[in-house]
Formats: sequence, structure tokens, C-alpha cells
Amino acid sequence: MFEETLYQGKAKTLYGTSDPDELVVVFRDDITAFNGEKHDILKDKGRFNAAASAFFMELLASHTIATHFIRMDDTITMRVRHLAMIPLEVIIRNRAAGSMVKRYPVAEGTVLDPPIITIDYKDDARGDPMMNDEIICGLGILTPAELEEIKEKTRRINTILCDFFAGYGIALIDFKLEFGRYKGEILLGDEISMDSMRLWDEKTRESLDKDVYRENKGDVIKTYHTLLSRILPEIDEEFD
Ligand code: 5GP
Repeated sequence: MFEETLYQGKAKTLYGTSDPDELVVVFRDDITAFNGEKHDILKDKGRFNAAASAFFMELLASHTIATHFIRMDDTITMRVRHLAMIPLEVIIRNRAAGSMVKRYPVAEGTVLDPPIITIDYKDDARGDPMMNDEIICGLGILTPAELEEIKEKTRRINTILCDFFAGYGIALIDFKLEFGRYKGEILLGDEISMDSMRLWDEKTRESLDKDVYRENKGDVIKTYHTLLSRILPEIDEEFD
């Protein structure tokens, strides 16, 4: 049973439940870019992200990575553990793209080996400024041990997801994770979907993610269908 709205994000709404340890996340059809400056509502977008996110959370659980995911209540409604979210966006980059290329002297597509972790402070009003270890620990957002734990988890998740996508001829360029505290543990929260990853076809470099929307490269819903039909055909068949 839903109780009050706890938080309305740009593409998801969080509701409390009768159990204080559980929340439900409703994946809406909103899609946004550039801190909400670009916004559209696209049919099925919420279902795509919910289905992908549930699949990846379960994949990680099968590799002993603890996440907030409990189960899907329906196609857009995910029941999750109620984390105290840590206001950081943890990004791991296998190849240079996006803000990496805009900010630093590196050509798009350059392989970053070992992968580079960058961390932004999650704060729209401040434009999600990039952090460093000293700021994160100095401001008391994480202890040094927690920061190391989050980085280690992020690297493990990256290895699992890179291996998964490589099996389908897809390169995982980079992705963003968010973590939270739950009963003394740090768990993965938020979502893992085509909205929070950059994916390129290994051969053609075609974008298979939200960059299609950000950069007006075509029909993003068609792109999400193409991706799901490659990696999760049984889920893609459920869509019209
Ligand atoms: P960049 O820093 O290059 O803009 O983004 C790096 C990666 O993190 C990309 O895969 C991008 O989708 C993801 N990312 C960065 N910031 C956000 C955000 O605010 N929301 C979402 N969903 N993903 C983000």
C-alpha cells in the first residue's frame, strides 16, 4: 500500500509504505537531460527503465552485490529497501565520453585502463559539482573506509556489467551509481538503466542509451527497444 510521496525526482517518484524499511519507486515516462532543461514524456519509457533496472539489480545480487531491490510490484513499480541515500553520483568510465571529453584533454572513445572513477555531488542547484576524496571525507559525507568500499563495489559492478554487455557486442562506456546506508551496510540504490549508462555498439559505435535523446540523434524509444531486443528479448517482447 502506498503512503505519502516521499520524493519526486525527474523520472521517478518514491512513496513510503506501511513498512518503514520499504519504499516503492514508480518509474514514470518522463525523460530529461541537461538538469531538466530538456524534458519529454515518452510512452513506455518508465517500463523500459524499470525492467532494465530490475534485471541488472538481480544480476548483481547473483554476484553477491547487495542492492535496495526487493521485487517488482507491477511493470513500473519497484519495491525497495529504504536507504538513507548518500548524495553522490559515482561514475565509472571505461572509455572517455561525455563530460570527461568536455573537461579534459582526452579524445572521445579513448580506452581508460584502469577505468576511472569520478564522483559528483548530487545537487541540481549547484550543477552537480565534481568532488574529490578530500572534499568527500572532509565534509563528512563518507569516512575514508566507506569511500574505499564504494569505489571497490563500483569496480566490481563495472566488471560484471562489462562482461555482460561484451557477450552482446556492446561496449559499456561509463555509468552512474548511487549508494545509501541501510542497517549498518552500504547498498546500491537508485537505478541501473539506459538512462544512467553509456552503451555503444562495439562495431558501429552507435549509441544505445540516453545520449540519443540528449544529442537529438533519433528516436530514443526505438533505441531502447533495439537494446532490450539484443540483451533481454523476452522482456522486449512484452512491449507493443
Ligand atoms: P557524464 O559525466 O559524462 O555526463 O556522465 C557519465 C555517465 O553517468 C553517463 O553514463 C551518464 O548517463 C551518467 N550520469 C551522469 N549524471 C547523471 C544524472 O544526473 N542522471 C543519470 N540518470 N545519469 C547520469
